Amino acid sequence: MAASPLKNLITGGAGFLGSHLVDRLMRSGEKVICLDNFFTGSEENIKHWIGHPYFELIPHDVTDPIKLDVDRIWHLACPASPIHYQFNPIKTAKTSFLGTYNMLGLARRVGARILFASTSEVYGNPEIHPQSEEYSGNVNPIGIRSCYDEGKRVAESLCYDYMRMHKIEIRIARIFNTYGPRMLLNDGRLISNLLIQSINGEDLTIYGNGYQTRSFCFIDDLIDSLILFMDSSNTGPMNLGNPEELSILEIANLIKSMSDKKVNIKFLKELEDDPFRRKPEISLANKELGWRPRIMFNEGLKITREYFQKKLTSGK
Ligand code: NAD
Ligand code: UDP
Repeated sequence: MAASPLKNLITGGAGFLGSHLVDRLMRSGEKVICLDNFFTGSEENIKHWIGHPYFELIPHDVTDPIKLDVDRIWHLACPASPIHYQFNPIKTAKTSFLGTYNMLGLARRVGARILFASTSEVYGNPEIHPQSEEYSGNVNPIGIRSCYDEGKRVAESLCYDYMRMHKIEIRIARIFNTYGPRMLLNDGRLISNLLIQSINGEDLTIYGNGYQTRSFCFIDDLIDSLILFMDSSNTGPMNLGNPEELSILEIANLIKSMSDKKVNIKFLKELEDDPFRRKPEISLANKELGWRPRIMFNEGLKITREYFQKKLTSGK
């Protein structure tokens, strides 16, 4: 007799990362429950699965408990863009703490394995470069980013305590900056802002002098790593990201060179608590999962640019 398909719960499944994960699990013949409060997610991202017998959409806020029968929980619910998580910072902290608490409680009740989407932001403004999992970070506990950074840190701590106290199977993924199709037009992060500005022939906005760095991973590579990680026996925390580090100015110049319109770079006031540099050390993921990102930055940028171009033309 064939094994019955795995039952997955994806919180934040209508969002950017979550909806790509929904696609991948559905295409592998697994069952998916997508749970979302639609704060930054949209039905548009998952509408192609509505009506499929293996797919269920539950509008729900993770700060409220829920009872479901599942084998695996992919806990992604939380706004990821600074402008969105700073919109209501108290709600962001609640989503991280209470949302993770509720999902760990569910995992305990039904014996599900749970993967928690943590972030490179747990390293704050890092004094160690590149960042490896052993580094415990340099986070401002009272700054404007702390609702998110500290929220993710306490959520990681909850995951470990549930594992130690209740033997829950946890996977903590420290995800670094990820980009690709389905980022919102009003997402407010670097790649979407600059690509949209370049398509519209507007100035490319850089906060500060542009010497700060980031390392951007294309969505397809990131989803590969999440799936391999969930299937592995390692609990993490595990860095998942692309170690190709570029300054914001280099990225702006690259996007400028891809544009058929003449665009300029406009320097704006630097953001409060903006980390100066960020690059993942990914040897753990490489050793444990045999994973490393494959999509080159200029290739991923081209795909994402085409996505925004279509979106802006269709007006949807
Ligand atoms: P996103 O904003 O596109 O998706 C988050 C989803 O969670 C949205 O669909 C939103 O509506 C939903 N959500 C938010 N609060 C909720 C709540 N209280 N209850 C139920 N649903 C809620 O962001 P994303 O880029 O897809 O990020 C997904 C996860 O990955 C987040 O936890 C984020 O912290 C983490 N992450 C993302 C990145 C990145 O670069 N995109 C980097 C590091 C970590
Ligand atoms: N950034 C920028 N212009 C923008 C948006 C972002 O210069 O229009 C900078 C931002 O100050 C930060 C970097 O790009 O230094 C990455 O920002 P993003 O919001 O994409 O991600 P995060 O800061 O959360 O890593």
